[in-house]
Amino acid sequence: MIYKSYGKTGIKVGAIGFGGMRFDTTRPKDNNADLLCYAVDQGITYLDTAPGYCDDQSEDIFGLAIRRMSGRRGDFYVSTKGMPQDFETAAKAQEAVEKSLKRLNTDYIDFYHVWCIRRWSEYELAMRPGGEYEGLLKCKEQGKIRHVVVSTHLRGPDIRRVLEKQEFEGVLLGVNILNFLYRWEGVEAAHEMGLGVVAMNPLAGGIIPQHQERLNFLAAPGETPTEAALRFCISCPPITVTLVGFTTREHVDAACRTADNAVPFGEDDIERIRRRVTSSMDKLCTGCGYCMDRCPRDIPISNYMQYYNEKLLHGKTDQEMVKSLKVQQEWGMLADRKADAQDCVRCGRCEMACTQHLDIVNRLEEIADWEAALQPPQP
Ligand code: SF4
Ligand code: SF4
Repeated sequence: MIYKSYGKTGIKVGAIGFGGMRFDTTRPKDNNADLLCYAVDQGITYLDTAPGYCDDQSEDIFGLAIRRMSGRRGDFYVSTKGMPQDFETAAKAQEAVEKSLKRLNTDYIDFYHVWCIRRWSEYELAMRPGGEYEGLLKCKEQGKIRHVVVSTHLRGPDIRRVLEKQEFEGVLLGVNILNFLYRWEGVEAAHEMGLGVVAMNPLAGGIIPQHQERLNFLAAPGETPTEAALRFCISCPPITVTLVGFTTREHVDAACRTADNAVPFGEDDIERIRRRVTSSMDKLCTGCGYCMDRCPRDIPISNYMQYYNEKLLHGKTDQEMVKSLKVQQEWGMLADRKADAQDCVRCGRCEMACTQHLDIVNRLEEIADWEAALQPPQP
C-alpha cells in the first residue's frame, strides 16, 4: 500500500480508502463489519461512510467494526458526512454529529464533510451565519471532529472558488479516468492549496467494469480497464485517497494489489486517453441514486439514464436504442417500472438533485420518442 499525506493535517493515509456505500445489506451487519476490519488489516486506513448509505446500515456497520478495533483507534481515520439541506442550522448540525458519533462508537470523527454540494446555493446555505459550518466548528472546538472538509459535485472553477475561502482542510470529489479532463481544475486547486483530495467514483459508478470492451483503450497491456482506472487515481500525485466501495474480501485484495503496483500514467498514456475520451463521457449517469424518490410520477430516472449511457458510450442510432429499449423493458432494468419516460411532467426536481448535472428532462423526451416507436400502431 502506498501512503500519502492528507494535505497539511500531518496525517498519512493509505492511497486506497474504504467506501462504505457498497455493503451487501442482505448479509448480517457483523459479517460486513468483518470486511471493514479485514480492510484495516490489509493497510487501508481511510474509512468513509455516511448516514443513509446501504439502507442506512453503513454507519452502524462501521460502529460495530470500530468497537471491535477500539484498541487500535489511532490506526485508522473515520470519515462521515451531513448535508446542509438536512441540517441547515448549527444546532441541527451538532445533533447530526452527536448521532453519528453514537452510531460509529467513537469519541471523535477524523473527517466530517459538509456533504454533497451540487450548486452554489447549497454552499451558501452551509456557510450562512448560524448554519451547518458554524455547528461543525463548535464540534471541532469540543474535539468531536478533527477536520472539517467538504464533498462536492460542483464544476472545477466553482470548486476552486469554494476552496479559496480556506474554510476546509480537504475535499471529496468525483473524479476518474473518464471525466478527469472536465473535473481537473478542482483537483489542481486543492493540491495547490495544500489540501487533502479524496476521489470518489474512481470506476465511474460501475460504468468502467460494465463496459470493459468499449473502454479497453484505457488499459496498458495485461491490464483491465477497471485496474487502469484505479491505477490512474491511486498513482496520481494530487489525489490523496481513492475511495473504493467494497462488498467482498476479493474486492479489497484486488484494490490493494493495484495500490502496491500503481505505476503512474506517463504523458504519452494521458495523451492517448485524452484523444479517445470524448466530452460525452462526462455526461454519463453514474447510478449514484441521488435522483431517486424525487419524481412525482415515479419514473425510474436512474434506470432510464443508465440505459441512455448506451447512446453516449456506444454511439447507438435511434433504431438501435429502440431495440435495446425493448430488451430493457422486457428483461432489464426497466422491467418493473411504474411509469414511462413519456409520463414526465418536466417539473425539474430530478435535475436539481443530479450529481452529474445531466439534462434529464431532454433525455427523457428523446427516450419517450423511442418508447412511442415501440408502441403498436393505433387502429
Ligand atoms: S422532471 Fe420528469 S422525471 Fe424529473 S422529477 Fe419531474 S416528472 Fe420526474
Ligand atoms: S441521473 Fe444523476 S442523480 Fe440520478 S443516478 Fe444518474 S447521475 Fe445520479
